[in-house]
Amino acid sequence: MRSYHHRDYFFHPCQACGAVANLTRNTPAAGGSERRTYECRRCGQVNIYDVAPEAGTPWTVIDQSSPVS
Ligand SMILES: [Zn+2]
Repeated sequence: MRSYHHRDYFFHPCQACGAVANLTRNTPAAGGSERRTYECRRCGQVNIYDVAPEAGTPWTVIDQSSPVS
């Protein structure tokens, strides 16, 4: 039985400031994983993760960019 957490899916802590970042994009990636893009509402940091299909596997940060202000 696989538990599914909507909260973890749509929201993820910002890598820069720790605030809640929103899921803005979700695309399939190689190997059955997903590439998820999260954007922080507080500082504007964008984090892109490679998420393995297996629950409990740590997400891999593949890209992150800070807003230029
Ligand atoms: Zn942030």
